Amino acid sequence: MNSSSNNSWKPDYLIPLAVPNLAGREADYLQECVRSTFVSTVGPFVGQFENMIAKREGAKFAVATSSGTTALHAGLVALGVKPNDLVICPSLTFVATANAISHCGASPWLIDLSASSWTIDPDLLEQELVEKTYFDDDKLIHKPTGRVVRAILPVFTIGIPADMDPIIELATKYKLKTIIDAAAGIGTLYKGMTTGQVGADLVMYSFNGNKTLTAGGGGALAANDPKLANFVRHLTTTARVGSDYDHDMVGYNYRMTNLQAAVGCAQMENCDLFLSSKRNISNKYNSELVDNKKVHAFPSPEWAESSCWFSGIFLPDFNADNIKQIRSKLREKNIDARPFWKPMHLQKPYESSPRSSMNITNSIWQHIVTLPCSTHLSDIEFDYIVDQANKVLRKYM
Ligand SMILES: *Cc1c(COP(=O)(O)O)cnc(C)c1O
Repeated sequence: MNSSSNNSWKPDYLIPLAVPNLAGREADYLQECVRSTFVSTVGPFVGQFENMIAKREGAKFAVATSSGTTALHAGLVALGVKPNDLVICPSLTFVATANAISHCGASPWLIDLSASSWTIDPDLLEQELVEKTYFDDDKLIHKPTGRVVRAILPVFTIGIPADMDPIIELATKYKLKTIIDAAAGIGTLYKGMTTGQVGADLVMYSFNGNKTLTAGGGGALAANDPKLANFVRHLTTTARVGSDYDHDMVGYNYRMTNLQAAVGCAQMENCDLFLSSKRNISNKYNSELVDNKKVHAFPSPEWAESSCWFSGIFLPDFNADNIKQIRSKLREKNIDARPFWKPMHLQKPYESSPRSSMNITNSIWQHIVTLPCSTHLSDIEFDYIVDQANKVLRKYM
């Protein structure tokens, strides 16, 4: 497909993994903040940004926060997660997922993935719940630790949705709250449903700088229950009541600023463009690099339309040392090829967290190579990356 006419082009800079695309009205909106002096948590862009997120994701409400991590923390508190509780989540995630659980004084109960989606395995989850829990009145108790299991926190890995129907079914049966870590999941579809429509109590998004859409930093929670949405807003704004210094509980200063939301609004205006670019890049890597023998694509379960936050290749049959060498050879060629998340069960703070078997997580995490996938990656950069990647890969086949 790619002609070799560009083969002589070489970048004199590192082609980055994923950097923000700020070609929209970001600067105009930021200037508007400065002109109006609304730079802090009060200002019109915050509400506007929340409406755009809610509308885009098919939720009734959205609450913008200072980061994805603070959104998760506030969301877990709002769902009733208390010190010493357990919250179910996958081991393969960014550390913020597990940290937000720890910030509640709770611990993650780590569950392995399904190989076909890199998201929580619902069959294994059910088996774990059957074998390791019992009800004490209305409380679900984890037998090995005696701790209360309060919620399930599925992660939409790279924008691939978890298999939500069986997860919601299990959550209902076991009286667990649900909060999705859809940090990079704006635009993700599960069986045609947007993230706000899949039945979770809350959905978290991140607008950190490396996500498809950024606000410089920031996060949001989507909800359909007005009481829950109001409570989340209350918690994230110091639990203030009325306009005087009156607070009815210990709240958090987690509100997004107008400056962040100004950037976020401009980004949301280009949401469809960014998503189609991300999906296009992913499809192109798949058609230029994947041979389905030694080089595989990221999973694409039939019920999923991924938001394709990251692109890259999966090398299950290569040994981990060779994959490290492949990455560093590509970096020598000015291509920012990187590893993917190191799972939580191998991280110091979570080495004694309860867990299922980790066969799938252990077998995949060192075999992922992420490749440059900024939405404004140029054709000439793309062709160069594919050319170099094919050359390096061939040496290890
Ligand atoms: C980015 C990310 C977060 C954290 O978001 P911040 O906005 O950086 O706090 C949480 N979970 C996952 C899966 C992420 O990718």
